[in-house]
Amino acid sequence: MDVFEQVAAKNHEQVTFCHDEVSGLKAIIALHDTTLGPGLGGTRMWPYKSTEDALKDVLRLSRGMTFKSAAAGLNLGGGKAVIIGDPKKHRSETLFRAFGRFVEGLAGRYITAEDVGTNIQCMEWVRMETRHVTGISRALGGSGDPSPVTAQGVYWGIRASAKERWGSDSLEKKHVTIQGVGAVGFHLAQLLVKAGAKVTVCDIDEENLKRTQKACKVEVVSAEQIFDVPADVFAPCALGAVINDDTLPRLKVEIVGGSANNVLDDERRHGRGLMEKGILYAPDYVINSGGLINVANELEGYNQERALKQAEGIYDIILKVYDIAKREDVPTHKAADNLALRRIAEIGKIKRSYIPSEGARGGSYRGVV
Ligand code: NAD
Repeated sequence: MDVFEQVAAKNHEQVTFCHDEVSGLKAIIALHDTTLGPGLGGTRMWPYKSTEDALKDVLRLSRGMTFKSAAAGLNLGGGKAVIIGDPKKHRSETLFRAFGRFVEGLAGRYITAEDVGTNIQCMEWVRMETRHVTGISRALGGSGDPSPVTAQGVYWGIRASAKERWGSDSLEKKHVTIQGVGAVGFHLAQLLVKAGAKVTVCDIDEENLKRTQKACKVEVVSAEQIFDVPADVFAPCALGAVINDDTLPRLKVEIVGGSANNVLDDERRHGRGLMEKGILYAPDYVINSGGLINVANELEGYNQERALKQAEGIYDIILKVYDIAKREDVPTHKAADNLALRRIAEIGKIKRSYIPSEGARGGSYRGVV
């Protein structure tokens, strides 16, 4: 397919191909929709087999960011970047500074952050060339590790789901299973135990299991068993595509909500499958938006207390999603998309009136959360 046809297929605004001979940089920056604000999204470094694969990925990921920011109530749009290369071999100061200069060239329309294959060090190199970067270390005034804020958002998303399902958001004596006690799952387990929940966890990493058992009272099952444990809530905090043809029939829970991205293997089929089984699904990109809220916070001078408080706002957003799902008789993941699309459409309309002082953007990135 022609490049312009691919860009037009999902209505992307701008795609920038970046090449630098000295560093060997080959990168693509995609801006999907900047109605609400600059496109914010991480830079993924991956040894893509072809430019075609890299383009496909960056178009898909940047569009996902549009929905995530819009549903989270942030004044940010959708953007993402990919660097074609092997992170183990090709990460260098020269390469990331070259990339940073391209980000700077977009004059704030795109704000980058770390993603798969990049880390805080890479973002600090980028920052030598541009201010339009987030997710840098606390020492440099950045937001550092987002996982405590992500966990806080997931916790409030689970409470909202409990309210929807059982009429009370108390998690006292509720049984929650967590798949993966890495950065997010570890914090989530502690929040749930503190709220009086019974928590069962699994992980393939012994160290992470031990660390969690040391921090709070949890039961441990094997990674394979986790889908068969009868419980009230299942929180996937490890991998994507965990709700699939194999696991869906095995689930014995009433709510699914966790930090993992792309939880539904096949969005349409498994989203509907959960609904038909009577399982309430907290859409992944809404319940895990604490990480994004955390970096958005950095744009206005980072304050973790404020970020944690804002992540509590996920409670109301999740309830709004459930309300739309009921009113429109659609699965909850579709309701989340509808919420995001309507916000973009409505805010887009009020932006018809030009304000001379507005510049690149007006008001706060933090939006309504
Ligand atoms: P992490 O790598 O720190 O933790 C993942 C944990 O899952 C690890 O302990 C790993 O051993 C475990 N795991 C991997 N495969 C497993 C399996 N088959 N069964 C059981 N456990 C398994 O990652 P994280 O930062 O905690 O993120 C978890 C998920 O949440 C990821 O999908 C990530 O994309 C998503 N997410 C994270 C954030 C954040 O702030 N870190 C924000 C948004 C979304």
